[in-house]
Amino acid sequence: MPKAVVVGSGPNGLAAAVRLAQYGIDVTVLEAADRLGGGARTTEKLVAGTLHDECSAVHPTAVLSPYLRELRLDRYGLRWRHPEVMLAHPLDDGTCGVLRRSVDETAAGLPAGDGQRWRQAYGPLAANLEATASDLLGPLLRWPSHPVHTARFGLRAVPPAALTRLLWRSPVTQSLFLGVAAHVMHDLRAPMSSSVAAMLISAGHRFGWPVAEGGSQAITDALAALLRDLGGKTVTGTRIKRSSELPDADVVVLDTSPSAAARIFEGHLPGRVHRAYRRWRHGPAAFKVDFAVRGDVPWSNADCGVAGTVHLGGDPDEVIRTARDVRRGRMPDAPFVLVGQQYLADPSRSAGDVHPIWAYAHVPHGYNGDATAAIVDQIERFAPGFKDKIVAFSAKKPADLMRGNENYVGGNILTGANDPFQLVFRPRLTPHPYDTGIPGVYLCSAATPPGAGVHGMSGYHAAGRALRHLGLAPAVQ
Ligand SMILES: Cc1cc2nc3c(=O)[nH]c(=O)nc-3n(C[C@H](O)[C@H](O)[C@H](O)COP(=O)(O)OP(=O)(O)OC[C@H]3O[C@@H](n4cnc5c(N)ncnc54)[C@H](O)[C@@H]3O)c2cc1C
Repeated sequence: MPKAVVVGSGPNGLAAAVRLAQYGIDVTVLEAADRLGGGARTTEKLVAGTLHDECSAVHPTAVLSPYLRELRLDRYGLRWRHPEVMLAHPLDDGTCGVLRRSVDETAAGLPAGDGQRWRQAYGPLAANLEATASDLLGPLLRWPSHPVHTARFGLRAVPPAALTRLLWRSPVTQSLFLGVAAHVMHDLRAPMSSSVAAMLISAGHRFGWPVAEGGSQAITDALAALLRDLGGKTVTGTRIKRSSELPDADVVVLDTSPSAAARIFEGHLPGRVHRAYRRWRHGPAAFKVDFAVRGDVPWSNADCGVAGTVHLGGDPDEVIRTARDVRRGRMPDAPFVLVGQQYLADPSRSAGDVHPIWAYAHVPHGYNGDATAAIVDQIERFAPGFKDKIVAFSAKKPADLMRGNENYVGGNILTGANDPFQLVFRPRLTPHPYDTGIPGVYLCSAATPPGAGVHGMSGYHAAGRALRHLGLAPAVQ
């Protein structure tokens, strides 16, 4: 029986391991941390009974992922829970942009004139997303299986977000769009900076922005249980620094950053690949704060009180300005803050009337200051009285995030800067982005297509290349 080693147990590492195990391969996953899951882990902390997502929280890409859907992880206890409203983006004048699962309801709630254009922009993308998902969630340098739908998606993805926003007149709609675009964590005036918004908005309208019951850990637990059923093994507390530390295997799949892959296979990688991996750029960082809060957050706008996610970035110009500043290495006084209220859809995460609130700010790469007060102030700006509700909190600066997961270089939670080049050619210019140039060794982290997010598709595709190497998989990958 062929043997495989997967280094790293993030969603991509586990998805790769499961796919290999499905073909009867003897798979072992080696994980540096003391728990499996990488960016999909949940911890009970701050107050007994409150469950806090360490990293990922909201899962439009997981419910969109063709591979995760194929795996039927509900058989392993994974339950999706949907909030009443997916996203709210409040403004200082008390108005609020609201993203709902239904494109029609979202359009109806937008200021006059904007609704119809929202429907025109995202209705067709959402309607065709099931067909285009396999094109969009894979290598971009290949002929798409649905060229017309994929090209239509491209029209919404390629322009700078600062330009796309002009589709709408009202600051409410513009800021709703720009807040989603800001997930790209790059300058919103750059080409391709609408791409993440096109994906997340259309995925939301098609499948929702759910949370996993019991926390994102449930995704990891389900994948790990399936892997065990298929005969795979997992080992935690094992950080691979050199290829000589790897057990004998016919194929190796790395759920690591390109720079870690360059270190691990130093002297073995072809020179051009080594250079490309060393040149891989990491973008802005996250500063994360978990709160335990007694009672609900006292939002000024009622829609924020029923939204799974709240974006606190102010008006359109402010969202664009803070993204630009952070990209240039300047910490804004009022950073862009994302707030997760997963307990609204999943009350199992609360302890009585004490609820877990998940928040992070976009900060410059490697930022070493303390953004806790800036995050609290930003919440307080739209929810006066929030401070008085805090029972406990804990903060993680970029260096802490990297200590917990070395893929987050400088606190960059996307495992790579989403500049236009790297969005398309990740991790290097090649039609086979998962290949490292060493036969039998593949890269599967979020540094490969389709990029960051919990979807397992990078793992799926990298495993496909490994299977092909072993003569076990379909020729086209
Ligand atoms: C604060 C935060 C919020 C986020 N929010 C969301 C969200 O709401 N929705 C969403 O979809 N995504 C979100 N993400 C992003 C998402 O978590 C990642 O894109 C996703 O987890 C990437 O999966 P991966 O398998 O590529 O790598 P990771 O999940 O990063 O896992 C990599 C694993 O490999 C291990 N590893 C690395 N190097 C080695 C080595 N040398 N030896 C052994 N093990 C190694 C690491 O310890 C880690 O466990 C968020 C991330 C963070 C940090």
